[in-house]
Amino acid sequence: MSIQRSFKEEGAALPKKERLVDSKLNEADAEESEIEVSLRPVDFKSYIGQERLKSNLKLAIDAVKKRNDGTALDHVLLYGPPGLGKTTMANVIAHEMNANLRVTSGPAIERAGDLASILTNLQPGDVLFIDEIHRLRRTVEEILYSAMEDYKLDIVIGKGPAARSVRLDLPKFTVIGATTRTGALAGPLRDRFGIIHRLEYYREKEIEQIIARTAGILKTEISPEATALLSTRSRLTPRIANRLFKRVRDYADVNGDGIIDKKTAEDALLMMEVDELGLDPADRNMLELMLDNYGDRPVGLATIAALTGDEPSTIEDYYEPYLLQLGMLERTPRGRLVTLKAKEHLEKVRKKS
Ligand code: ADP
Repeated sequence: MSIQRSFKEEGAALPKKERLVDSKLNEADAEESEIEVSLRPVDFKSYIGQERLKSNLKLAIDAVKKRNDGTALDHVLLYGPPGLGKTTMANVIAHEMNANLRVTSGPAIERAGDLASILTNLQPGDVLFIDEIHRLRRTVEEILYSAMEDYKLDIVIGKGPAARSVRLDLPKFTVIGATTRTGALAGPLRDRFGIIHRLEYYREKEIEQIIARTAGILKTEISPEATALLSTRSRLTPRIANRLFKRVRDYADVNGDGIIDKKTAEDALLMMEVDELGLDPADRNMLELMLDNYGDRPVGLATIAALTGDEPSTIEDYYEPYLLQLGMLERTPRGRLVTLKAKEHLEKVRKKS
């Protein structure tokens, strides 16, 4: 299997301050990209959790393999908060299909011609991964419709009266789209995916397995207690679990003998100001600002963004999902509301510091 990364990648607006518990790939991860690659599961066996998704996909892949009639795997749409393993699953699918993986993203495909050139370079059976597919431009999206449905590419050659439309045949291929927001996807695009699946937050036990696997790959000793502790602070998200693990490992290397026991993990997390629920100062600051300025009244997304100085999309993609999952925020028709649970938690953290 070969992986080709096409075009530059631009993520959604990143949080201004680099956050440890932010589930977006950050600069530190990018620097350590070799480690990142070594940590990324390549097959169903090493991909921990998401059992329902795995069994659905396994069935679909086995069926295509068994038919062996040149049909491609149905297009797959994966959605859910960042860091839960959508890109990783695209890698796994390509691997399990013995197919090449081409990687691009919605914002990276600027013009219809960019997509046309990606599509015309595909080989039969290739997997095309489009990250942040909800950010595709409309003109680009329209080209994708017939490509996904009939494996045809409609392009216009020439300009003005001489312009004519040409229909090219494309090889049978599979699109894997990833999005944090399925609601932001146009209906006709969504309809072209045969397999649509939401990635769920992981169970603590699964995150523990991921941490243990990471420790094994990075040849670091970690006690079961420390593994369990890190798991509870990881926002049930593999990317954050791996990131916390790497920072705690640094701490253990500098301040101890490199072995991560419970005390080392506790001290490192304290230094990083990651609290018992995995919230960091930026999360707590957002909740505090909402409470200080609006008390028990709901606050609109744009207002929250103005309060924290982030982009609304950053709030929606990186702050909110886990806070909603924890029951710290509530979404009402009039805006977001800080819950009693959040108030109690903030109070507890304040008392401790
Ligand atoms: P997403 O595309 O949803 O933002 P990624 O696929 O990039 O998330 O996952 C982030 C990192 O978390 C990966 O590099 C991988 O190391 C790790 N990871 C994700 N899912 C799993 C999993 N199921 N098992 C083990 N590690 C995982």
